[in-house]
Amino acid sequence: MKRIIFATGNAGKMREIKEIMADTGAQILSMKEAGIETDIVEDGRTFEENAVIKAKAIAAFTDDIVLADDSGLEVDYLNKEPGVYSARYLGEDTSYDIKNQVILDRLSGVPKEKRTARFVCAIAAAMPDGEVLVTRETIEGYIGEKPAGANGFGYDPIFYVEEYGCSTAELSEEQKNAVSHRGKALRAMKEQLHQYGV
Ligand code: IMP
Repeated sequence: MKRIIFATGNAGKMREIKEIMADTGAQILSMKEAGIETDIVEDGRTFEENAVIKAKAIAAFTDDIVLADDSGLEVDYLNKEPGVYSARYLGEDTSYDIKNQVILDRLSGVPKEKRTARFVCAIAAAMPDGEVLVTRETIEGYIGEKPAGANGFGYDPIFYVEEYGCSTAELSEEQKNAVSHRGKALRAMKEQLHQYGV
């Protein structure tokens, strides 16, 4: 059986990838399950670069296929901030209640049509033959006037999707995965891996 290692320590992401990849028949392992532990410096300038950096760094420890993702929020009015710095915005240890409030304050008085934003996700696959595959997908939305919802994580409470008329923190996990940047990028990667016979 083919093994795929997903370079994350995030349990929610592991659940999502296992669900999406279930029909491939490949065995999906977290880094921990694969016994790999390492610190990676994510110093890329784009989501794609960071995903490739992570996948290649882990691939050095194994002959299995390694998948890695990098994601974040782009707010158009803020010149696409926080972007690749989404996790580090205002400091890694700052709560998302504060990060979200600061973004809302920076958009104070800005009309809805200028509050456009998107979540971006890049997924890289480092193949045992040295080939690297990359996918990138987005979910388009806008920054609301106030936080809403308790599901999801990170910037979900302030990110609203037009077609649902609510924030992504108000969607169920299933609803969000069906339309999210990560869900779409993972399904696109599954297609690419399929070409490889995975
Ligand atoms: P990473 O890809 O795990 O490094 O995540 C980057 C950061 O982007 C996260 O810590 C969140 O702040 C933000 N982010 C990425 N995807 C989402 C999402 O689906 N909802 C809310 N925040 C997200």
